[in-house]
Amino acid sequence: MIAIEFTSRQKHIIELVKKHQPITSEQLAEMLSMTRAALRPDLTILTMSDILEARPKVGYFYSGKIINNVASDFIRSIKVKDIKSNPVVVSEDTTVYDAIVTLFLENVGTIYVENKGALTGVVSRKDFIKMALGNTDVHKVPIAMIMTRMPNIIYTTDGESAFEAAGKIILREIDSIPVVEAFKNEEGKDLMRITGKISKTNITKLLYDLCK
Ligand code: ADP
Repeated sequence: MIAIEFTSRQKHIIELVKKHQPITSEQLAEMLSMTRAALRPDLTILTMSDILEARPKVGYFYSGKIINNVASDFIRSIKVKDIKSNPVVVSEDTTVYDAIVTLFLENVGTIYVENKGALTGVVSRKDFIKMALGNTDVHKVPIAMIMTRMPNIIYTTDGESAFEAAGKIILREIDSIPVVEAFKNEEGKDLMRITGKISKTNITKLLYDLCK
C-alpha cells in the first residue's frame, strides 16, 4: 500500500511549482530563503514520487495527473475485507417487533435476514415505517413478510475494492450492502453466506482515516 505524507515545506514547494512552472531550483531556493543544497532532498522526494518532473536546463514542472493517480490507486487498493464491519443478522421467523428491538439494541439501520445460514433478505428503517402505515400486528408477522428478498439484494465480496462497494451504495441509493461468500447447501444449491457489511459509515470512516 502506498502512503505518501508530504511535509509542509514539500507542500509549499508543490504550490510554488504549480504557480511558477517551469521553475529552477535556484529560483525555488530563493523564494524559500534556503540554499539549493538544503532544498535538494525535498526536490528528490518530489521528483521520485512523480509529483514534480525535472527537465534539464528548463526546470521543474508539476504533474497533477500523477498525484491524482496516486490517490486513486491507493483508494482502489483498499479491499472490502479491510474495512467491513459486523453485520446484524436475524432468522426469517423473527417477528417484526423483535427485529425493531434488535435495530435499537444494536444501533444499526439495516438488518440482514438468513435462512439455514444463507442470506435471504434485508430490512431497513423504511420497511418498518412502511409496515407501520398498514394494519400489521408486529408481534405476529415475521420479518420475512416485509423484507427485500433475494435475488434483489445488492451485495459485495471480500475481494472487491472499497471503491466498488461505495459505487454500489451510491448508485442504488441504499445505506449498506452485505458482504457475502458463496457456498453450496446439502442439496448442492448455490447460496450466499453473510460475512460482514459495508455501510455508509465504513466508507466515511475510510475517508476520515485517509485524511487524518
Ligand atoms: P432506510 O430505510 O434507512 O432509508 P435504505 O435506503 O438502505 O435504508 O433502504 C431503502 C430500501 O432499500 C428498503 O426497502 C430496503 O429493504 C432496501 N435495501 C436496503 N439495503 C439493500 C440492499 N443491500 N440490497 C437491496 N435492497 C436494499
